[in-house]
Amino acid sequence: MNEMTSDQENRYLRHTLLPQVGREGQEKLLASSVLIIGCGGLGSPAALYLAAAGVGRIGIIDDDQVERSNLQRQILFAEADVQRPKVEAAADRLRALNPDLEIVNHPSRLTPDNALQIGSSYDIFVDGSDNFPTRYLTNDAAFFLKKPLVYGSIFQFDGQVSVFAPSLGGPCYRCLLPDAPPAHAVPNCAEAGVLGALPGVIGSLQAMEALKLLLEIGEPPLGKLISYDALRSEFRTIRLRKNPNCILCGEQPTLDTLRAEGHACAVNAPYNDLNADQAKALLADSEWHGLIVDVRTPEEHAAAALSGSYLLPLQELPQRFKELPTDRPLLVHCKAGIRSAQACLFLAEQGYTQLSNLAGGLDAW
Ligand SMILES: [Zn+2]
Repeated sequence: MNEMTSDQENRYLRHTLLPQVGREGQEKLLASSVLIIGCGGLGSPAALYLAAAGVGRIGIIDDDQVERSNLQRQILFAEADVQRPKVEAAADRLRALNPDLEIVNHPSRLTPDNALQIGSSYDIFVDGSDNFPTRYLTNDAAFFLKKPLVYGSIFQFDGQVSVFAPSLGGPCYRCLLPDAPPAHAVPNCAEAGVLGALPGVIGSLQAMEALKLLLEIGEPPLGKLISYDALRSEFRTIRLRKNPNCILCGEQPTLDTLRAEGHACAVNAPYNDLNADQAKALLADSEWHGLIVDVRTPEEHAAAALSGSYLLPLQELPQRFKELPTDRPLLVHCKAGIRSAQACLFLAEQGYTQLSNLAGGLDAW
């Protein structure tokens, strides 16, 4: 490891003053590397803070050009960058901020063919992507390469952060959402609005978690989803458990290679089976605007029910299913998960596409 120059000693003074970082920690950062996947709202603040902090090698993968509508939140870019490739504009900005660093441009999209090769030379992945195929690919590549993945996502006024790193303990992204992009998360495939400072909050949290991992200080949020509600000014922590049946990191994995996963708008399974933890995470997800459907009897419903659930007993479903909205996701449950699975199959045959079944029912809840 190279000795720090006096310029560097000055630049990183506020780091080295921290007993948890010190010279040794700063030298660790200078010798470390991070791959930022997607250089948009999340990748911008993450890249700026990681570069300022002296992370020695920063790779950026993105195949987009800067558009004027990006400037409202993608703070790496300036007016003069409009129409430039994002990786080039980003590299110029980061080098101007900190000439110590090696900035590596990957002007492409992450694909099953390039993900392992590109990813293998970095210590940590920061997911700044805005689409499900890239998110799954990033998760799977990080898992196969045993690299921690700092996850972030935003929607309108809400954001989430976690660290997925089964090799350090804790779940992967597929433990949470096993496969196929859930329809609720990509409404109409249209670009959603977002208040500009929100990706600043979430991307900065991602940079913080990446720095903690590189410095090996504190505790990464393994098995925790940090959820930020900007309108209520609230942070909540949602517990995520490892899914023993996860197709990637579970006990009997069936996924052993990278694959292109779905389309941003695709829905292919007739319904998703969710375990209790996944269902709780779904209900806590600010992107979810669905309806909980209880297919038990009125007596069972009266005894105990999930708040806001809609009672429609399985026996009455064939006559009454049209009461259920077709344009909202449905989370169907019963006591043990058998009746609700039947209900999901029936509803799928009637053309319902956004169906989730609470596996194990309320007993598992
Ligand atoms: Zn998993």
